[in-house]
Amino acid sequence: MDKIKTIIEPFKIKMVEPIKHTTEEYRRAVLKKAGYNLFNVKAEDVLIDLLTDSGTAAMSSGQWAAIMDGDESYAGARSFFQFEEAVKKITGLKNIIPTHQGRAAEKILFSIVGGKGKTIISNTHFDTTRANVEFSGARAVDLVIEEGKSPSKIHPFKGNMDLKLLEKTINEIGPTNIPLVIVTVTNNAGGGQPVSMENLRETKKICKKYGIPMYLDACRFAENAYFIKKREKGYENKSPFEISKEMFSYCDGATMSAKKDGLVNIGGFLALNDDDLTQKARTLLILTEGFSTYGGLAGRDLAAIAKGLEEVVEEDYLQYRIRSIEYVGEKLTALDIPIILPTGGHAIFVDAEAMLSHIPKNQYPAQALACELYAVGGIRGVEIGSAMMDRDPETKENRPAKMELVRLAIPRRVYTQSHMDYVVEILDIVNRQKKNICGLKMIYEAPVLRHFTARYEQV
Ligand SMILES: *Cc1c(COP(=O)(O)O)cnc(C)c1O
Repeated sequence: MDKIKTIIEPFKIKMVEPIKHTTEEYRRAVLKKAGYNLFNVKAEDVLIDLLTDSGTAAMSSGQWAAIMDGDESYAGARSFFQFEEAVKKITGLKNIIPTHQGRAAEKILFSIVGGKGKTIISNTHFDTTRANVEFSGARAVDLVIEEGKSPSKIHPFKGNMDLKLLEKTINEIGPTNIPLVIVTVTNNAGGGQPVSMENLRETKKICKKYGIPMYLDACRFAENAYFIKKREKGYENKSPFEISKEMFSYCDGATMSAKKDGLVNIGGFLALNDDDLTQKARTLLILTEGFSTYGGLAGRDLAAIAKGLEEVVEEDYLQYRIRSIEYVGEKLTALDIPIILPTGGHAIFVDAEAMLSHIPKNQYPAQALACELYAVGGIRGVEIGSAMMDRDPETKENRPAKMELVRLAIPRRVYTQSHMDYVVEILDIVNRQKKNICGLKMIYEAPVLRHFTARYEQV
């Protein structure tokens, strides 16, 4: 029998949500009113929303059933124990603290271990992680391998930590000033690129040598596990669940936004082995999030996460998930549209600096490209570049990003292949008319996480 090549969406659709067509003229007016910031655009005015893969997943019939079965008791709800068991099953970590999303776990963790004089090391801190580290007074240092900083260099694990640089940095700063090392899997800000098992193992070895705990920012652990299965020798025949368990076996703690690989619309957790730290974390949790068996979530949310964590490691799902991103990547590459290669796990990253070489870096080329994709096709992506980098907290200078990217994040189980074909077509049209795109000037910015609320004018 011939081998079947078509990879189908491994689900059928039970409920549909209409999306609305508008005209280019209408969308250009919307953009102007929104200060050229797509965060200020109403979702109703977007046709294909690729702003984020966070909290945008379609839940399964199994998850909706779990929601109906949610236990809303304030303390000791059955849904909490289902959630706790599901998180423990995958992470093997001892103490599980629910939070309303990933950044709440980060806020609690870095409020305790951060502070002035401390340094947190990561392959690349995600923006909320960096903001929470810096808000505590600590410094955030990124040590991703050189290949991870270059959009076109091919490497199977571009999210890897630079191990030599890690050891050198620990020696320079002194291990007592480094409360933890946190590895982001997959590396979101660096293009959704995976981290290899070998790199996790070696990072752990170095951390252990200096008595520094190693954490995972585990938002996309399952996508990372699938890349390990496909690309790393020795893992071909292991299941994504087994691989996930091994990934977590190297860490002492983890933060997670369940809005990614939890396949839910809200939720997250902080998981820790350290009992003393757990006690402090639970105290802060009660102060801002809620009691330790719900952490700012409804019981039904906890039940949906428990089911989502089961579904996300299914091989059919992960094969479709990773392939759908690769599919868009192959089409764009064939059209000579510069993207980060190889494609990562949850998004396509268009290299706006390469595509719009006529727009200088200080005129936010990636923001300009994101706006144009919206104007021409009603597609909403997001800038991952100099606007997102914020200013240096000490010098107050702009921090130019290493890359100026537009991220087109693909929500989980939401869009079909024809939606993706449309996205490719719009990118092709925009690329062919790119000389008409002009740069942007930032006219308002907040002191932290400025890209959410910034306003721009066309130059
Ligand atoms: C989304 C994300 C976070 C923050 O999670 P929220 O649920 O948005 O607060 C942290 N780290 C990474 C890598 C993320 O992708």
